[in-house]
Amino acid sequence: MKEYEVVVGLECHVQLLTQSKLFSPAVNRYGDEPNTNVDAVDIALPGVLPVLNQKAVDFAIRLGLALGCEIHSTSVFARKHYFYPDLPKGYQISQYDQPICGHGKLSFQTSEGLKTIGIERIHIEEDAGKNIHVEGGNSSFVDYNRAGTPLLEVVTMPDLRSAEEAMEAYRALRALVTYLEICDGNLQEGSMRADANVSVRQIGAEKLGTRTETKNLNSIKFLGQAIEFESRRQVLELEAGRAINQETRLWDSNRKESRPLRSKEEAHDYRYFPDPDLLPLTLKDGQVEKIKQNLPELPLQKLKRYQEKLGLNAYDAGVLTVEKNIADYFEAALALHTNAKAIANWIINEMQLNIAISAAQLAELVKLIDDRVISGTIAKTVYDELLKNPGSRPSDIVEAKGLKMQRDTGALQKLVESVCTQYPAEVEKYKAGKQQVFGFLVGQIMKLTQGKADPVEATNLLKQYLGS
Ligand code: ADP
Ligand code: MG
Repeated sequence: MKEYEVVVGLECHVQLLTQSKLFSPAVNRYGDEPNTNVDAVDIALPGVLPVLNQKAVDFAIRLGLALGCEIHSTSVFARKHYFYPDLPKGYQISQYDQPICGHGKLSFQTSEGLKTIGIERIHIEEDAGKNIHVEGGNSSFVDYNRAGTPLLEVVTMPDLRSAEEAMEAYRALRALVTYLEICDGNLQEGSMRADANVSVRQIGAEKLGTRTETKNLNSIKFLGQAIEFESRRQVLELEAGRAINQETRLWDSNRKESRPLRSKEEAHDYRYFPDPDLLPLTLKDGQVEKIKQNLPELPLQKLKRYQEKLGLNAYDAGVLTVEKNIADYFEAALALHTNAKAIANWIINEMQLNIAISAAQLAELVKLIDDRVISGTIAKTVYDELLKNPGSRPSDIVEAKGLKMQRDTGALQKLVESVCTQYPAEVEKYKAGKQQVFGFLVGQIMKLTQGKADPVEATNLLKQYLGS
């Protein structure tokens, strides 16, 4: 695929963490018994009227500000018409030509440094219900719990140039909405869903190629796979002399391929018009300003601070800030023991980002190493004990198991002597210039003390002994 370039634009749906739905008082919650969180408005009983949830508006402004978007003081809700059993009204309330947020940008880390793409718009819309098809059965069901759930749709410009970049951008957006606490970012439960618009063009060409839109991408991995698949398919089509159909495709994660769902609908197919049941949305004086003042520290700001103020490298800072809960955990431990590098190292390398002990336990563990009460090796033993006994304190484990570092010079001296007597051949090799043997001898001292000998002290004593 050398002479072709991949072009991707994403449409990302973000489910908002409001208590109630976008236009009804029904509870907005995932995982309840089907059809229990349903109000007359959600199933379009005659005579009902929608009432806008102001929290959803605030959340849209929050995200708009975080993405540097223009915030429109007036926006308009429109009806988007289509028929589907999960859409009882026969139309979805969305925003069309006057969305709440206009142009903005999204920045994110890539392997080649920071990349910034354009955001075309953000609009507010309601979700549909969910059709449930029973495997092997001959009937389908509809669950209206999701009907009317508030969503933000974030539309990017076609600025992404690879599957990898699209995945990074989506990760960054996920980090942003969770930091803003407007969405739980749970991809498995569908709290975020992406449609990938993909086209290819010959490198150097200015005109964009015909695009397709792949739907049903509920994980970052699938998003990447779908873009890889689709760009390959398009190149093969073009190379075979065929044109690309502008169509909507559906990703099949089992077969790792997409297939055409329908030819792309045009905006006029939806018969958009302003919803006569809803007034244009006008923001209150000072509403945007107030939200701006309450924005939290955002992922990229945190990343910068971790590097500049805490001295972490770009990689570690990036890993710690991608998930809000990891960053929160890191900061909670740091508040108790201020060794940022060691705490970061533990979270990333020893714990593999798997938060299984409390921040207080981690802080104490690192402090024990820093105070030279235990060695780094023994700390791993203490950590394993903490996993087995979740409530316990690292210092109690060290005490109970006798894991304190052995620093008594006299005792260590004796160990040095006995190890050197036991391995005379190795000692000779070392004296003849074979430096690597030194590590072996230290290792023997560690072995005899079950890893508890003070490695610095043992090294010094061994050097002295061999030097004399
Ligand atoms: P819709 O899908 O509703 O028709 P738009 O026409 O605004 O909406 O486009 C939606 C998405 O498609 C945007 O994310 C945009 O960046 C992307 N897009 C538009 N043209 C192309 C193209 N030629 N190649 C890849 N992505 C594209
Ligand atoms: Mg679309």
